[in-house]
Amino acid sequence: MKKIIIFLGPPGSGKGTQAKKIVDKFGYGHISTGDLLRKLQKQVGVALDEKEALESMKEGKLVPDWLIYRLAFKAIESNIDEGKGVVLDGAIRNVAQAEEYHKFFNQKAVEKEVEVIEVTMPDEESFGRLAGRKMCEKCGEIVPKFLAESGVCSKCGSNLITRPDDSEEIVRKRLEEQGNAAITPIREYYIELGMYVAVDGMKSIEEVESEIEGLLKNY
Ligand code: AMP
Repeated sequence: MKKIIIFLGPPGSGKGTQAKKIVDKFGYGHISTGDLLRKLQKQVGVALDEKEALESMKEGKLVPDWLIYRLAFKAIESNIDEGKGVVLDGAIRNVAQAEEYHKFFNQKAVEKEVEVIEVTMPDEESFGRLAGRKMCEKCGEIVPKFLAESGVCSKCGSNLITRPDDSEEIVRKRLEEQGNAAITPIREYYIELGMYVAVDGMKSIEEVESEIEGLLKNY
């Protein structure tokens, strides 16, 4: 199995859920740039350039590429240096980022260890999922609408809240910037490199999981 698994897919496609499953099953490091950015938002004494960069997140826009590289490359490096594989979850959202990561993997001599999996989903479906889902205010677990009725997190028992960027207006902006129109050129980039496979995110979580497991075994 490859050491670097990159997940692509629109917000709400279930790529985070599937990334966590690989992490749990194979002991890989989980690198979600969204989680890293939310952690940075909560920190005190954040550098001014980072604080300004984080503002675009609130509006549903992408944060500048340099902040992504600063956070993600450090996290990838420490996992690789420990001999661990990594799962990148939402860490690549435009072609410039895909190219920069590729350079980084080349420098680290791990470019042959990369596998890209897209969890495909139409933007309208993503919209419905994001608008209804909840997040645990303490551990950050994302909970789909149909499991959120109790109002408490099944993992840690804390309150479930609406993620600030899951409001209807911001979700529309996120899908404009991070939906299928944005993914298409990234998909083409990885197809050209021969690193790309896709799974249908409209199937059940279990079906997607077993398809991914089958694909990973073949590479
Ligand atoms: P997520 O939790 O993956 O939905 O990400 C939440 C927000 O973080 C996104 O709406 C973006 O503003 C920002 N973000 C996460 N990953 C990236 C990335 N690779 N490039 C730019 N912005 C990102």
